[in-house]
Amino acid sequence: MPSETIKKADVFIAATYKRLPVVLTRGEGCTLWDESGRAYLDFVAGIAVCNLGHAHPAVTLAVAEQAARLVHVSNLFYTQPQADVAALLVENSFADRVFFCNSGAEANEAAIKLARKYFYEKGDSDRFRIVAMDKSFHGRTMATLSATGQEKIRKGFDPVLGGFDFVPFNDITGLKAKLDYRTAAVLLEPIQGEGGVRCPSAGYLEAVRALCNETGTLLIFDEIQTGMGRTGRLFAYEHFGIEPDIMTLAKALANGLPMGAMLAREQVAEAFGPGSHATTFGGTPLVTAASHAVLRQMLENDIPETCRKAGAYFFDRLLQLKERHPIIEEVRGLGLLLGLKLAVDAEPVVLKCLERGFLINWIQGDILRFVPPLIVTIQEIDRMIDCLDDVLTDLVRGERTAVQ
Ligand SMILES: *Cc1c(COP(=O)(O)O)cnc(C)c1O
Repeated sequence: MPSETIKKADVFIAATYKRLPVVLTRGEGCTLWDESGRAYLDFVAGIAVCNLGHAHPAVTLAVAEQAARLVHVSNLFYTQPQADVAALLVENSFADRVFFCNSGAEANEAAIKLARKYFYEKGDSDRFRIVAMDKSFHGRTMATLSATGQEKIRKGFDPVLGGFDFVPFNDITGLKAKLDYRTAAVLLEPIQGEGGVRCPSAGYLEAVRALCNETGTLLIFDEIQTGMGRTGRLFAYEHFGIEPDIMTLAKALANGLPMGAMLAREQVAEAFGPGSHATTFGGTPLVTAASHAVLRQMLENDIPETCRKAGAYFFDRLLQLKERHPIIEEVRGLGLLLGLKLAVDAEPVVLKCLERGFLINWIQGDILRFVPPLIVTIQEIDRMIDCLDDVLTDLVRGERTAVQ
């Protein structure tokens, strides 16, 4: 029997999502509960958002206190939480300045606008093109959709914005051939998330950086999914010994409150002066108070290190699972951004896991994506592995029975 909430939602909410049939009411750490009080182990974390887990006490306290004091005043004024978060982001990254906004797509919009404005200010307004990657994902607004290298996401929305070129990810020769005097920036995710948890091959990102240096092209890293400790470092670029010129963040930045940010080096950030870009809500005291609590937890308790250990353990256990189940083709990812490429459709696996009280996500049809809170324990990972082991065994057995 579908619940009253599901019935109501299916009638009144725009049908843009295919939702799993569960109404969630409460969370704590890596556990969520539904309206009947049933518990689920959460390996989705609101799509790599609740990196500190659900209802983290420090974040809850920061939000409650700030909500009672001051929620919003606009960016016509100064507020302390916003200044504190900007300072922490700058002190812990390559960047010198931060622009706050409300989502990942908006952060990428700001990055695209900044790259164009940077060359305009240099008197080089012909240099506006952005080279992005096949299978990338940068958001659903018109500009970010135009920067997204996935036909199924762009379909039906033509004409998309001009000025974007695409090359295959991990193909440095293809990128070199595409760059010319009109290229303002290269835009990429250090690890492609929505595109299938695809890691850069050895030396690729370093070569992209070198190519950008040679040609004076800006390098934009979309770390909306990979940032905030997800890969085992605060930002994924730290794994590769290089730095971007511009970086975008959102998802886990405020552990679930809507918040995005665009970070840039001073020389690039300078192109944005008063009036050149703006947003009413960006960096409200409420979301920045949450984000300040998140960053302090991340830094003081070295959550990226916690993630690195849990991620390495999880990766090994997934490899063991692959040994036992030939329908697993590949284990991919870094830290706690992990994927299992299956030889079959992944949706039935997700539904079977849900029935057993485990929440996971699938992308690109045949890839299971695991993005649990970074505080996930070894025991919780073991439970997830046992569940997958059973579900995959049943799946193969079921298929065999169907064939006979
Ligand atoms: C989620 C995501 C976005 C879009 O973020 P929204 O907040 O949904 O607009 C952009 N880029 C990457 C890499 C993402 O994972």
